[in-house]
Amino acid sequence: MSRVYNFSAGPSTLPETVLLQAQQELLEWRDSGMSVMEMSHRGKHFAIIAEELESDLRSLLAIPTNYKVLFLQGGASAQFSFIPQNLLNGKTKACYIKTGAWSEKAVSDAKNYCEVVLTASSEAEHYTHVPEVADWVIDSEAAYLHYTSNETIHGVEFSGVPDSKGLALVSDMSSNILSRPVDVSQYGLIYAGTQKNMGPSGVTIVIVRDDLIGHAPKTTPPVFNYAEQAKNQSMLNTPATYNWYLVGLVLKWLQGQGGVAAIEQRNIAKAAKLYQAIDQSVLYHNPVAIPYRSRMNVPFILADESLDKAFLAAAEANGLYELKGHRSVGGMRASIYNAMPDAGVDALMAFMAEFERTH
Ligand SMILES: *Cc1c(COP(=O)(O)O)cnc(C)c1O
Repeated sequence: MSRVYNFSAGPSTLPETVLLQAQQELLEWRDSGMSVMEMSHRGKHFAIIAEELESDLRSLLAIPTNYKVLFLQGGASAQFSFIPQNLLNGKTKACYIKTGAWSEKAVSDAKNYCEVVLTASSEAEHYTHVPEVADWVIDSEAAYLHYTSNETIHGVEFSGVPDSKGLALVSDMSSNILSRPVDVSQYGLIYAGTQKNMGPSGVTIVIVRDDLIGHAPKTTPPVFNYAEQAKNQSMLNTPATYNWYLVGLVLKWLQGQGGVAAIEQRNIAKAAKLYQAIDQSVLYHNPVAIPYRSRMNVPFILADESLDKAFLAAAEANGLYELKGHRSVGGMRASIYNAMPDAGVDALMAFMAEFERTH
């Protein structure tokens, strides 16, 4: 067996110790006599898995007690519609910041439910920065302000918390949740699919302040209704039980790494050296303005596009996989989430230098 360095944007690389533990527990979890996959979600064993999952997430992110934590299905994409359905609360407008492909999708889905006030957009600059706060348009009549804290495709990340001028702040943190500390109390709602930085696909985390829920219209299907799911511990329908378990293992791994503040330091170091290597080279280029460069997703283009195929083939020959950029932006992208070891980034940098030298 030879595991490669996998730079996929999601589903993405997982800590090897997590995979080994899952393998070890595949046939029997603790003393339950069965696999987690076979357990009733109402049974006493799965109850322990669910409790540990929520309490570990609460402690890693220091989630205040007046926030519900939900584990849903449908991905972050489903949230693009669930959020307006649940949070509009009779209002007709919501504010959105557009900084890349994912916020663009959030905007387009929200338009089915409300008038979208475009607070800011960097579309004209091909999503290479976050627009100046001074230019933001925030409508005080809006139900909330939505932004995407890390644009997975364009490699643009907010470094701080946007000032929502009193509106409930809603953030899609799919690709940078648990990569850095976040003050949950400044948010109305945080959501994230798990397949980027928390585990396999199949679970969507929603952290929501409890006064914001319970106002969805009757036409909202109960499984899409945050208040209904909260009342039922996210088990209004059968949850993705095995995926909850795997996310739980990743959280325990993260605790073992020293938690979010400790992993942030490693993420800063990994990203800094990779960007430095790109900036110092002649062959590679990252188009994002320096203050907004993502620590998680590092896109780069080759000065000569005709080398792309050779680059990807040679990378694979060196055990470096999934470096092809998203089809909408082209070039390359290295996703270096929490689980990407330092050695993987070093191997990528050594390969890039060698490829530049020989081309
Ligand atoms: C991947 C991603 C999504 C979509 O996730 P799905 O699970 O495919 O719905 C949404 N937003 C961001 C920021 C993402 O990275």
